Amino acid sequence: MLDEYGRSIDYLRISVTDRCNYRCAYCMPPEGIVPLQHRELLTYEEITRLADVASRVCGITRVRITGGEPLVRMGIAELVAQLRALPSITDIAMTTNGSLFAAHAAALKAAGLDRVNISLDTFDEARYRQLTGGGALAPVLAAIETAVALQFQPVKINVVLTAALSRSDVEQLRALVMRLPVIVRFIEYMPIGRQGIAPGLSVAKVKDLLEEAGGVLLPDEQVTGAGPAKNYRLAGAAGAIGFITPMSDRFCQSCNRLRLTADGRLKPCLLSDAEINVRDCLRSGADDDTLAAIVREAVRAKPMGHHLTTSYHGGFERQMCQIGG
Ligand code: SAM
Ligand code: SF4
Repeated sequence: MLDEYGRSIDYLRISVTDRCNYRCAYCMPPEGIVPLQHRELLTYEEITRLADVASRVCGITRVRITGGEPLVRMGIAELVAQLRALPSITDIAMTTNGSLFAAHAAALKAAGLDRVNISLDTFDEARYRQLTGGGALAPVLAAIETAVALQFQPVKINVVLTAALSRSDVEQLRALVMRLPVIVRFIEYMPIGRQGIAPGLSVAKVKDLLEEAGGVLLPDEQVTGAGPAKNYRLAGAAGAIGFITPMSDRFCQSCNRLRLTADGRLKPCLLSDAEINVRDCLRSGADDDTLAAIVREAVRAKPMGHHLTTSYHGGFERQMCQIGG
């Protein structure tokens, strides 16, 4: 459906948990968060009911399962299967830190997951451990290979631009794109939490490093599932490279999404505290028309754009891990 500014909203990001086995410096405060209680989380049936109404009545066709870390919640493949059974949902994706993915990959594929994004911010074991608050690299590298082998389409690698990313990392990510049909996306850090981290390489610098390592970045608008990324190809590469620039070149004019938090709030915009409680309706026996009216209200409430780069803010109420990135 169209929002107040003529944007077509057809994509719902569904956070299934605020819990995570990592503590990424850009996403979660070092002391962690007070996690939601189980009874506060939407059940898989509640999520599926909302997705059903949002897709049949309000034009949502694509969903992404995120977190926290979605794979720390039990039985995610069951949720994928329930969403897959909805006739108006054409595309189901997941964003994961990759640490638990390899063990779940076959079940997720069988349940109907189409695509996966795996986060990987450096190839350096020590920097990775430090940035993620204790994560290990090997399972994530295995997750990428497994995702490609199982032909998730596409497999994207999310790289947040932080001080952990070195020249050597950029070269290794380039080598990955040459070898595997993956889309590596460099994402500008968004200071939405209260933690604050040192900025890393700029997009311009990463582009320079990629080209210094060999080849010219050729703009390519045909890259599958492009979303907000500006995409490029390197001659002879199996994969592609994208840049997501919410800070230096915001893309709000093409925003196409709503977000659902794990505790059942619809968020019209990632970079705003506004949210609409849909859980109470789901739990009070609301009919489809009532639920659809709430989804429409969230679409109507989408702001024209965010103000993260133009006005002071002291951090949002929710940390990134409580929204889903
Ligand atoms: N745990 C999963 C993961 O790490 O992929 C899914 C949730 S995470 C919140 C979703 C995405 O948001 C990840 O790719 C993560 O790197 C990105 N992200 C988290 N905090 C961010 C920030 N402050 N700025 C930019 N991207 C961020
Ligand atoms: Fe967890 Fe993902 Fe946030 Fe890292 S980015 S703390 S893995 S939710």
